[in-house]
Amino acid sequence: MHYFDNAATTKVDEAIAKQALLCMTHDFGNPSSFHKLGVAAQQKLTNSRKSLAKAFGCKEDEVIFTSGATESTNIALFGATCALEKRGNKIITTSIEHASVKNVMDELERKGFEVVRIKPRNGKYYAKDFIDATDDNTILVSVMHVNNLTGLVLPVAEIAKGVKQKSRNVVVHVDGVQSFCKLPFKVSRTDIDMMSVSGHKIYAPKGVGALYIKKGTKIKKHCYGGSHENDLRPGTEAVPLICAMGASVARLNQDVDKNLEHYYKLNALLKEELENTDDIRILESEDNAPYIICIAAKGVKSEIMLHFLGEKNFYVASGSACSKGKKTGIIGELFEDDKLEDFIIRISFGKDNTEDEVKGLACAVKEGLDAIIKV
Ligand code: PLP
Repeated sequence: MHYFDNAATTKVDEAIAKQALLCMTHDFGNPSSFHKLGVAAQQKLTNSRKSLAKAFGCKEDEVIFTSGATESTNIALFGATCALEKRGNKIITTSIEHASVKNVMDELERKGFEVVRIKPRNGKYYAKDFIDATDDNTILVSVMHVNNLTGLVLPVAEIAKGVKQKSRNVVVHVDGVQSFCKLPFKVSRTDIDMMSVSGHKIYAPKGVGALYIKKGTKIKKHCYGGSHENDLRPGTEAVPLICAMGASVARLNQDVDKNLEHYYKLNALLKEELENTDDIRILESEDNAPYIICIAAKGVKSEIMLHFLGEKNFYVASGSACSKGKKTGIIGELFEDDKLEDFIIRISFGKDNTEDEVKGLACAVKEGLDAIIKV
């Protein structure tokens, strides 16, 4: 099996899974309990929080654990707008967000907020456009760091700096799911106030994520219960999942440069292998993360190519896993051709992919182009 869908989810390494198992079968206490088992579980939470804090470059009390990036983003966006609604009514985001931000924005709009969705220009996002859109009425800016379909990197640090210089009222949130532990980026060294990340994109289990919240950020809780996770995310912490995420982050954080170099190599190799293939278009901009490559195969519908490659044991994506085959409109936004989205294949590398696998994948894509009847 050759897995090239690491932007959708990743395989948990056995050593990491064992850490979770240990938390369930041995150190299974409730971290809020005062006895030894509880203290041991609390210690596991602390260790994981430390490794997340190191990766964010922040303090431990600026990290809360959640069930995933979707929940992190809900806490961040509803929390900030609720806390700041007396100061203003305007929110700025992009036209290419993942459903976890996009659908929250749609709901905030229904609730009466003015939502401005910045569009790309020539396939790129410019900080200037966000700064120009910011005024005294603006309370929130939410921008993704790396687009999950194409790998486009957005200038989030520059945007945060610029919008905050323009208006002191603004809180900046970043969806960091496709960049966390993959790009050398320390959120605490920027003007970004909140960043959502997910465990299952970085070799931890599904059902765990985190939210970085800079100290002093105005945020109101919207879910009630115990006072866990800085009183923002009530409920007994998922210690086994958190523990696994902490262990994975600790390891990945050390390997960011090494892994990035590996991704650049695989990226260059795939492009080289597909070079001179007339019917393949690589959909990228100059600001692309190397671990996501989106290609369009002329005349070959995504699902057909996906199944063809699947038969040969190459697993890729036809679009965002969360949109379940529905069009996202993102390709049209970035490449000014709505129809292209029907033909895209997303290849996303993981740390364990090899050069031989990439050569095999390129070969299978070319075979697919020859074998499939084009529309
Ligand atoms: N944001 C982006 C950019 C994603 O790619 C995803 C997952 O596909 C999410 C958010 C949602 O993450 P989670 O599955 O942890 O809720």
